[in-house]
Amino acid sequence: MDTSAFQAWVHEASLLITEHATRLTELDSAIGDGDHGINLRRGFQAADDMIEKSESDTETPGAVLRTVGRALISKTGGASGPIYGTGFRQAGKALGDVTEVDAVLLGSALEAAFNGIQQLGAAQLGDKTLLDALGPAVVAYQAAVGEGGDLAAATRAAADAAERGLAETIPMLARKGRASYLGERTIGHEDPGAASTALIMRALAMVAA
Ligand code: ADP
Ligand code: MG
Ligand code: MG
Repeated sequence: MDTSAFQAWVHEASLLITEHATRLTELDSAIGDGDHGINLRRGFQAADDMIEKSESDTETPGAVLRTVGRALISKTGGASGPIYGTGFRQAGKALGDVTEVDAVLLGSALEAAFNGIQQLGAAQLGDKTLLDALGPAVVAYQAAVGEGGDLAAATRAAADAAERGLAETIPMLARKGRASYLGERTIGHEDPGAASTALIMRALAMVAA
């Protein structure tokens, strides 16, 4: 994937999140404060605008992701802003300043995003957060690469795993963020952050295809 493919990822993610913003907000109304779709749409549209207008350094894949991270931290409200922002920044750091990203390097970036988010928010797998979609996505990605899959196949495997991970958040009890205040009432609903992570991973698979 080259720089323009990473720019296309951000654009596609912004489109998918905008398209699904109402659903994300409904999920967050059930177990949180009903702003996840609004928060993320604002953040991703700001990131996409910044890249399109080249208001920031977007000359390499790593620079694109670091710019997305900054945009999400400054423009997205809620817990998800710093959480996603940290994920994109760490992924961007892992890419360094190469101009072409291969399947192995992209895997390192996805792992760096997961680790950065886990360090920031201290959630464990099973706590009903976006990590329950991102974790399985990273594992499936690495397994696909280990089996000799190319970047397109690995991102497809990651997106499929994120969607399965999202479904698996339904029976979970939320232990982090606002949802954790609702305790047992969170059981039976998808986690909004896991839903947005599944969209972001699907956008990646679409541009990598
Ligand atoms: P807020 O809860 O502040 O309104 P959002 O509604 O935008 O923020 O985002 C909520 C999502 O953030 C949750 O669905 C969950 O996936 C994610 N989240 C909350 N806390 C954490 C955490 N500690 N680690 C990882 N993800 C988290
Ligand atoms: Mg919310
Ligand atoms: Mg909020």
